[in-house]
Parts: sequence; structure tokens; C-alpha cells
Amino acid sequence: MNKSNPNSEVSKAEPALSADEVLDSSIQFLKGVGPKRAFTLKKCGVDTVWDAINYFPYRHEDRRKIIHIRDVENGEFATVYGLVDTIASRKMRNRKTLVQVSIKDASGIIYGVWFNQRWMKDKFKKGQKVLFSGKVQTSPSTQISNPAVEILPEDFFPEDYEGTLIPIYRLTEEINALAMRKVIQAALERGLPYVEEYLPEKVLKQFSIMPLREAYKIIHSYDYPAEELTEQNIAIARRRIVIDEFFVIAMGLLMKRRRTEQLPYLIHHKKPGKLVKDFIKNLSFILTNAQKKVLKEIFDDLVNNKPMNRLLQGDVGSGKTIVALTAMLATVDGGYQAAIMAPTEVLARQHFKTISNQLRGTGVKINVLTGSTKAKEKREILESLAEGEPQIIIGTHALIQSNVQIPELGLAVIDEQHKFGVMQRNQLRGETNQIDVLVMTATPIPRSLALTVYGDLTISTIDELPKGRIPIKTYVIRPEKLSRVWEFIRKQVNQGKQAYIVYPLIDESDKMPLKPAVAMYEELKDKIFPELKVGLVHGRVKADKKETVMDLFREGKIDILVSTTVIEVGIDVPNATVMVIEEAHRFGLAQLHQLRGRIGRGGETSYCVLVNNEKEDPPVWKYKKNKEPVQQDLIETTSNSRLAIMAETNDGFRIAEEDLKIRGPGEFFGIEQTGVPALKLANLIGDEEELRLSRHIADTLYQYRDTLKPETREKIRNRLFRAFGKTIRGVDAG
Ligand code: ADP
Ligand code: MG
Repeated sequence: MNKSNPNSEVSKAEPALSADEVLDSSIQFLKGVGPKRAFTLKKCGVDTVWDAINYFPYRHEDRRKIIHIRDVENGEFATVYGLVDTIASRKMRNRKTLVQVSIKDASGIIYGVWFNQRWMKDKFKKGQKVLFSGKVQTSPSTQISNPAVEILPEDFFPEDYEGTLIPIYRLTEEINALAMRKVIQAALERGLPYVEEYLPEKVLKQFSIMPLREAYKIIHSYDYPAEELTEQNIAIARRRIVIDEFFVIAMGLLMKRRRTEQLPYLIHHKKPGKLVKDFIKNLSFILTNAQKKVLKEIFDDLVNNKPMNRLLQGDVGSGKTIVALTAMLATVDGGYQAAIMAPTEVLARQHFKTISNQLRGTGVKINVLTGSTKAKEKREILESLAEGEPQIIIGTHALIQSNVQIPELGLAVIDEQHKFGVMQRNQLRGETNQIDVLVMTATPIPRSLALTVYGDLTISTIDELPKGRIPIKTYVIRPEKLSRVWEFIRKQVNQGKQAYIVYPLIDESDKMPLKPAVAMYEELKDKIFPELKVGLVHGRVKADKKETVMDLFREGKIDILVSTTVIEVGIDVPNATVMVIEEAHRFGLAQLHQLRGRIGRGGETSYCVLVNNEKEDPPVWKYKKNKEPVQQDLIETTSNSRLAIMAETNDGFRIAEEDLKIRGPGEFFGIEQTGVPALKLANLIGDEEELRLSRHIADTLYQYRDTLKPETREKIRNRLFRAFGKTIRGVDAG
């Protein structure tokens, strides 16, 4: 990562390329890769040499020695070698395909068995030399289910086999294990000399941290003495990579934070006065105790002389908006401007409507600015904002465009925080002054994750729903039962209620055989509910059209709203009591919970129907409560258990926790969502110790940055650039 001095291990003959040039180069130019394979690998997120080096195995398999087929034991892990003898596939009674391939050595015969992977059959040819590895079963025949397969070259002899712990990578259909390993080994050969240790020698020693390059070698079983590739060393290497991942995030956030902290904070909010008190008094409901508690926390933050950096978390429907609005009123009352930024246009417009209603008679000026605001109106809004007129401005990303100036901004509220990146969040914060920031999320975050992703936001929690909410009833059904669901919707509509029907896609896709919203809308409207009013919204419907449809639905002039996940966040129509989610197995838990949160907002029982359109029978593996974080290789098989959790609980905190366990932290929050690099190896549930250590190291190095060697600072900075990309450039590494 060092630009100026290419590493000493790099051969002198090569033209001097910078580390960035090498690590950011496409894997396509590696030995034996080429455009086709590069294209395939892109699907695994592997595009550059750096990506390949950081494509970590999810486990290692013990292939330290090959044993004779006759010596395998039931239930034990084994690696066997033989020549392919028979290749067969057949349909079983449950219509699944079974592929059986036998291999033979001098001592016996063993079968490799695959279910529903018809393509496996075409991988083999009779007489081929093959290794099978996996857990052995000795009945009904001696076999390994889903063995790891290595097809060997003609000139392979088992006597030459140098077994080792083999890294096992996640694959796609088009690339086999051996090919994947070769790509990664080639990437290491090319790129590893440019990967530099950035932690000072002393730190490595003090905390017994393995040097970075060595860790990569061990994890990938690359260029390392086989006898030293032990489980223990792999664990030490893994620890190093975990520390690397946490350190980068900790240091990045530290630098961002310190930079804002150096800015002056000049805002003096007024103590909540008559405006706020009257507003609360005139609400059509009474605030819950939880709402009162967090409001007090927020007011305390506002009036003290430090900027507020608070995360407000509360389950869907817990009433966060009213809390934010009250805080904004206090701000405006004190002569400042307040902004609330929502992730979608639909949500921003809805906020505008409800807030306008709630503020009627208060005299507070309120405006909305989104991507589709007409030019003339936009100019007027921008002018009044730039003049510093106290008001509440509601908007989308449009609020953080460079031409928007809000000079007297005193409070920025960011709704549905998880939809924005860290960096976007920071943009509302202003470049010259610090302001108060309140971020809101309906996806509660476990503490370890909050520490990683949010640095040191203070957390307020609304842990109580408004009184009188009736728990939503959730059912998981197969598509064959849909006609009964349609009947049920009809009954609800006849009782004056409304329904949502959600689809994952807008249009037909040749990749995924899913029901598309547009086509289903036609069918629902013409064939299934010809007598009812059916509306459609999705991401490509024009903004004003979308708004019209949402208005009609809100006013009860549309009975059934067909949509994609554009309605996922924040939409509030209390009269809607049914939510049908088709292809529900395609959605993540957090998303299902958000969608379900659109109903159950009135005083009557609401019903959520999750349609499981999965073709295959659910896999045997079952999700269990309170179990260890699941193995990564089981992730694909858990879709059904997700639906089961949904049926079991309405509690967003529980759902978020389960979600984190199932998906793993890497996917739970990726860089697109948070601006923080996804964790690849680190696990927030098991690696708290490493998280603490990494934060400690980052804090210390930052604090004593003046005593560090300039090269060390340069190396740390380069490592951060690599992780955060351009978003963090311009940050001073100290
Ligand atoms: P969130 O943003 O937390 O999902 P909202 O702020 O959209 O929730 O509130 C959901 C609904 O509950 C809104 O219709 C709101 O007016 C209503 N609401 C908020 N607080 C209360 C309360 N204390 N009692 C009754 N209804 C409330
Ligand atoms: Mg909300």
C-alpha cells in the first residue's frame, strides 16, 4: 500500500508499479484467470487482486493425509483417492435428483453422493483421478455426502501427495474448489509483497499479534511450511485479520470524529418553552413513558454546551417521529433551523403531510425538498433556507446536495439511519460548525455493533409501544393457499379495511423466476379483485404519481396497494390491517419486520401473511434458539427458519439479534449501508475481545501519533484509504 517504495521482496526486474496499481488491478491479468473466469469471480465479489487476497476461506479441511478406502470409518472425516468408476443419476420418489459417483482404489470402493445438483454428474469422466474429502457414512453404502472434490491431473500420484489443511472457499456453480484456490494463490503471489505491515513492531510484540503477511499466508495455506499449518496457527492468523478489520474501522471513525470535534460548537438551544409544551398538550394521544424518557434525554443534550450525537432506537411504530418533531420544535423556538432527512421520497412526503397536520396553528414554517421538487419551488426554498429563516425542512438526499445551504441549522435528524451511510450522515453535520444530530433507527443494534459502526453515539431507546396496540398475527403459507388469502382480504376490505401486497421485483427477470409486481398488479386488479380498487407503486413510478397513489391509499380510496419494497420504511396508514408478502423467503429478517411494521398501527387486529414460494423442500437443518452463531456454510439453508422467527415474534430487538446471528455481521451492515467496510472474518458476537483490543490500539496510536515514525503514519493512512476508498480521503491521518 505504500506508494513510494515498492517492497524489497518484489523482483528488481519488474517495472516499479505502486502498491495501489498492483492491488487494484483486475484478477483477469493473473496467471490462468482471463476474462471469463474474472467475470465468474465478480459474482463472489472478487474483482481485484486485493479482493482475491481478502476472499477468506470459511473453514479449513484436514487433508493432511490420504487414507485407503477400506480404512474409512463411519462418522469420521476422511480424504480418499481413487479412479472414477461409475457415474449415475436418478430421480428419487420426492422428485429430487440423486447423483452418485463411485471411485476405486486397490482396497475398495466409495461413493460420492449429491442431492439436487444434477450438474455434478457432468463433472466426472470414467477413469479420472479424483480426491474426495468429507464425512464418511458406511450405510446404506460406504459414501460421502457432498464431498469436497478435487479432480487431479493425469500425472498425479498419491505418493506425491503433500496433504495440508486446505482452505475451503465459498464457490459458485461455475467455479470449482481447485480453480478458486489457484486464483487466490496467484493473487497472493502477485499482491502479497505489496501488503504492508502498518502496526509498529512494538505493538505486535506487546499484544502477540502475528505480522499481517504471515497471517495471509497461513489463512490461505500459501507458501508456508505444511507442517506448521496447524489449527492453532490458523487461529492465530485469523485473529490477526480480525484485528486488522476492527482496527481499520476504529481508526477511520476516530479520525472522522476528531476532525468534527475540532470544529467550534456555537449553538445555544432554548429550554423547551410554551411552543413545545402546547404542542405536546394538543396531541391527540398521550406520550408513552418511554417517549417522555427519551425526550428528556434529548432536551438535556440540546441545552448543554456540547453537540448532541444521539442514536434513537425504537421498534417500528414505537413513535420516534413525534419525539424527533418535538426536538425540532424546540430548535425552531430557539431561532434555529431544523432538518429531517428521510431515505425515500415517499417517506419524506409522508413526513411532510403528517408534520404539517400536527403543526397546524403553531405558526411554524415547514418545507419539503426532494429530488422531484419543481425548479421554481426549489429556488424559493433554497433562498429562505439560505437566509437562515427558522423552519423545519424535511427532505431526502436532496438536502445534502452542495447547493443547499442551511446556515442556521441547529438540529439534524436522520430518519431510518440504517438506510444511510456514515459518510452521508456526516454531511448534514456541516463543515464549519458542529450541530446537534439525532439519528433514528428501527433496526436495533447490538452493543458491539454500535461500538463498531457508530463510534460513540449515545443511545436512547424507546422500549415500549403506544398503548392499545394489538400484536400482529403472522402466518407462513405455501402459494397453493393464496386463494384463501384473497378471500380473507376481500372480507377485511368489506369491513372497511385495507391491504398491502408486496412483491420482490418490479418486472420479470430472466435470472430469477419471481412474481413481478407489475404483472401481478394486472392480474389482481382484473381477475382476482375486479370489484375492488387496486393501486400500484414501485421504484420506477414517477414521484408525483407515487404520491397520488399513496394519498388515495391513505384516504381509503384504494383498497389494496400492490407494491415493491418502496413501502418498506415509515409508511403510516393505520387503517391497513393486512400485509401479504409474496416470495417472503427472498427477504431478509430486518426487511420483513419493517414491511410488517406497516400494519398493526390502528386499534384493530392486523394480519401478516408470508408466502413461502421456495421450490424445494426446506433443508433438514433447523434454526435453534440460543445456539452458537451459525456456520457460514449453513447460511444459504436458513431462509425458512427466518420465516419461522417472524411467525414467532413481533419484537424487533429479538428479530435484529436473530438476523445478526443468521446473516453474520459482514452482511448485516455492509459498506453501502454504513460507509464502514464489511467485516469478512471478524464476528461481532464471538470476537469482542479483539474488538476491544483493536479499539485500544487505535486509540493509543492516535493519541501518540506525534511519536510515530512518518513511515508508520503513512502506512496506516494507506491502509485506511484502501478500506474506506475515496470517502475518507482528505482526512488527516494525524
Ligand atoms: P416509528 O417512526 O417509530 O415507526 P411513528 O412515529 O411513525 O413510529 O408512529 C407510529 C404511529 O403511532 C403514528 O401514527 C403516530 O402518530 C402514533 N403514535 C406515536 N406516539 C403515540 C402514542 N404515544 N400514543 C398513540 N399513538 C402514538
Ligand atoms: Mg418512522
